[in-house]
Amino acid sequence: MRYRLTDVRVFDGLERVMERAWVEVDGERITVVEDAAAQPPPAGDGVPSYALEGATLLPGLIDAHTHLVGGDVVAGAQDYASSRRLAESSGLTAYRTLAAAHHTLRRGFTAVRDLTGRDYLDVDLAHAVDAGIVSGPTVRAAGLGLTITGGHVHQRCVEVDGEDEVRKEVRRQIKRGVHWIKLMGVTGGMSSAGRHPLAAQFTLAEVRAGVEEAHRAGVKVAAHAHGGEGIMNAIEGGVDTIEHGLFLDDRSAERMAERGTVLVATLMNEMKYHEALERGLVPDTALRQRQRLADEGFVMPSPEERMAIARRHGVRVVAGTDAGGNAMVRHGENANELVMLQRTGFSPLEALAAATGHAAEVVGLPDRGRVLLGAIADLVVTAFDATRDAAVFAREDGIAAVIKGGRVVHVARASSPLAQRMLGA
Ligand SMILES: [Zn+2]
Repeated sequence: MRYRLTDVRVFDGLERVMERAWVEVDGERITVVEDAAAQPPPAGDGVPSYALEGATLLPGLIDAHTHLVGGDVVAGAQDYASSRRLAESSGLTAYRTLAAAHHTLRRGFTAVRDLTGRDYLDVDLAHAVDAGIVSGPTVRAAGLGLTITGGHVHQRCVEVDGEDEVRKEVRRQIKRGVHWIKLMGVTGGMSSAGRHPLAAQFTLAEVRAGVEEAHRAGVKVAAHAHGGEGIMNAIEGGVDTIEHGLFLDDRSAERMAERGTVLVATLMNEMKYHEALERGLVPDTALRQRQRLADEGFVMPSPEERMAIARRHGVRVVAGTDAGGNAMVRHGENANELVMLQRTGFSPLEALAAATGHAAEVVGLPDRGRVLLGAIADLVVTAFDATRDAAVFAREDGIAAVIKGGRVVHVARASSPLAQRMLGA
């Protein structure tokens, strides 16, 4: 199917904004992108044309850190590791996963990188979406996280010790079809009980072994790391992305910039933590963990300070929320990461690029994340000027339409004439 979207503000996914531009989609790809200087062909040439006056069209949003598997963590549960419906059948978990994927897509996120779940459901979902069996965001999946025996999220991960075991498990997961390897046991966590959040887990040699093995197969590596020796092991070991980095400091940021290590800051996680704190809803384990660190003299930078450190050193940051990682960070609310990126010093266009063009490149979706001739037509339309305020996507009415692979998969007001025509198209 072929159609045009005309008279629309276009953000290209990196830095360019075109006012009153028009775009043509043919099949799953973008076949024309023109600014106002080039008039679209007159109506009546047989190609349906939809005028979107005042709206903004941009690449579908990308969340570089989700846990779709199992949907949201049960409200009131302590954390992802220990309480994610451990006793549930994997069939029911799969349906929850699909529901979370649909919800994520409807909120404008046409791709996610999923960083550990259960039973390789994320890998299977990725294949099911790619094969057109189910609708959902394109998924880059990490399968099961790797951790040390008794390490971070050991309840949900594969426990491996020593370079040989790390290598073997990486090979096993690649065989199963993962796009990413998640090294979970690099440092402890902030909300789960157990080991010290800043203590290193995998050794530098273990990280190196995993990275070497993954990279040899063209698979990238994400590391859960907050700070201290663990984050340095991850950076020096050659991982591609650092997840969270809550205790990022000048030393680690400097090395990340030098090595090209990307930060996925999961700022929405912090936002939701503080909202829950005000309402007295933060689980005791998480409160104790933060108190313990404060008592020991570890000062956690605020999100604003953390992003200032990253920017000062030139660390590349892409948008990732940790949706599904705990009960506070819910699927479908992913656009809060854009709110937080802006709040912590990113311009609207920088925030949008972190969730589109840059995220696509980092996650490994080179045909997506751009409004560009030849790119896959994963697109989102908002009635607002998102180039002046990227936070509009967090509004209830922030999404007007979502297009996936050229197909209109969601419109906000299905009753509107435009929506009916687009959906029928
Ligand atoms: Zn996570």
